[in-house]
Amino acid sequence: PAVEQVKLQEVVLAEPRGFCAGVDRAIEIVERALVKYGAPVYVRHEIVHNTYVVNDLKSKGAIFIEDLADVPEGATLVFSAHGVPKAVRVEAARRGLTVFDATCPLVTKVHVEVAKLHKEGYEFLMIGHKGHPEVEGTMGQLNDGIYLVEDVADVERVQVKNPARLAVVTQTTLSVDDAAEILAAVRRRFPQVREPKQQDICYATQNRQDAVKVLSPQVDIVIVVGSPTSSNSNRLRELADRLGTPAYMVDQPDDLRTEWFVGKQRVGLTAGASAPDILVQQVIARLKGLGAASVRRMDGIQETMRFPLPRGLGDKSMGAQ
Ligand code: SF4
Repeated sequence: PAVEQVKLQEVVLAEPRGFCAGVDRAIEIVERALVKYGAPVYVRHEIVHNTYVVNDLKSKGAIFIEDLADVPEGATLVFSAHGVPKAVRVEAARRGLTVFDATCPLVTKVHVEVAKLHKEGYEFLMIGHKGHPEVEGTMGQLNDGIYLVEDVADVERVQVKNPARLAVVTQTTLSVDDAAEILAAVRRRFPQVREPKQQDICYATQNRQDAVKVLSPQVDIVIVVGSPTSSNSNRLRELADRLGTPAYMVDQPDDLRTEWFVGKQRVGLTAGASAPDILVQQVIARLKGLGAASVRRMDGIQETMRFPLPRGLGDKSMGAQ
């Protein structure tokens, strides 16, 4: 379709959107490690699931690996925001690597809960997506006794040793609505199940999904800035789509397709927790090129969450350099 068929009027920005405190901290850990120790700094797995962020850190001297065997002796290693299985931590210590842990404190909180209840004899159901590194990290806190359930059918099938000593944990970046449905099935089948005091789905996931619920009915199309590997970004696109608003995810501005906007006037724009604001700004510039004269920020909550940096990379130690 010709560009002249596209006459956008307005961009509505979701609030909040983009970087969360865990992503901010993880990126800062790699940047500070590069300053303090010099390049290269090795990073196990994409520090956060975003192509732009990973390429930017590569250009500054980060080397991304999946297997610790690819990290040379004496190197500096950062664990990604998604967390690592216990075996990886043990291996890094055995190798004597200098490790900085960029695991989000909200993921660590889940790991700590799993270790504590395991000591009390609990087994676990983990609600999450198979193959996601956070799921591998959390399940990898134990050698056995933790079972992945991806949907209600999995809950019906799963075999546990003792339903009276069963706890449930979840991936932090799930669809809030899907997780609630799966959790309801868990409660039906295992009425004694122990649940976390505060849900494991994190504040950033919850807030970004809540914002999309407010945004979607106000617009004709939703664009989510995020990488295909990003769980929380995929959930945002899916949510807008479920609410009946056509929704697309773009990893970078070049992914935008003019034909998506034919006959549309208002564009809702959000970004996953790992997507940097520079990409949002570039997408806005493109949308202006398609006629959007005004950019309005939706009303929404202000996030103030901040996580401290690990010891050895904080402000004081940097100053003492
Ligand atoms: Fe932490 Fe949530 Fe951000 Fe993941 S999305 S890094 S759990 S704050």
